[in-house]
This record gives sequence, C-alpha cells and structure tokens, in this order.
Amino acid sequence: MIRIREKEFAAILEHCRAEFPLEACGLLGGKKERGNYDVEKVYFLTNGEKSRDHFSMIPKEQFQAVKDMRREGYLLLGNFHSHPKTAPWPSQEDKRLAYDTSFIYVIVSLKEKSKPQLKAYSYDQEKNVICETVEIIK
Ligand SMILES: [Zn+2]
Repeated sequence: MIRIREKEFAAILEHCRAEFPLEACGLLGGKKERGNYDVEKVYFLTNGEKSRDHFSMIPKEQFQAVKDMRREGYLLLGNFHSHPKTAPWPSQEDKRLAYDTSFIYVIVSLKEKSKPQLKAYSYDQEKNVICETVEIIK
C-alpha cells in the first residue's frame, strides 16, 4: 500500500496537467515500513525527451533529488510519470524499464483530463505487475 498526503497527491496531478500534452515525470521520496510506502516528498523532474509517449529523467536532476532525500532521511521509493492520452496501465516500455522490484511505479492518466487517475504498481521478480492500493491521507 502507498500512503500519500492530499497536498502531494494534488501537486503530482497539477504537475502532470502543466506538462500536458507531454509526459511528466518525477521521483518519490519517503519511508518504507512493512511493505507500506509513505510518500513524504515529491520531486518534479524534467522529461529529457520532451515526448508525448516517452520519458527519461535527467541524471543530474535524479542525482540532486536523491541527495536531498539522503539529507532528509528519506528513501527513494520509486517514480511517477504521466500518460497524457492513455490509461494508467504500464506500457510494454514501462515494464521493460521497471528494473527494481523494491520500487513503486506511479502512473497518472490524463486520458479524461477532467478526471485524472493515479495508479501505483510494483513488480515481482518475473516482472508481473502488482497493483498497489493508494491511500490519500490528510
Ligand atoms: Zn508509461
């Protein structure tokens, strides 16, 4: 399960809307306890590809975000990206790029722009997709 505060949840959606029609991306820092992920801080990164159906993070920005997490005492929990035109389901490429079974992968779909959807996934060793529950807290 993933727990995220309303404020961070709203900030992710806002960022994805602002980047539309390009894919947006970022990193999630926080704490992990008994298989639950608590998102404490969201890092908004530049999509280096400036693409509508791909994203790649800029290494320098990733490095800075991870450095900040260390300073704050947070772990790198995973990342998020948006699907401007498609459902919030991992693409073949998303699956291919999901190399870390301890990460959570959040996807925001803006397919219905007025009703953005946020879903979270993890992967097992065989790259099976596991849907994670997202709980929004105060
Ligand atoms: Zn994707």
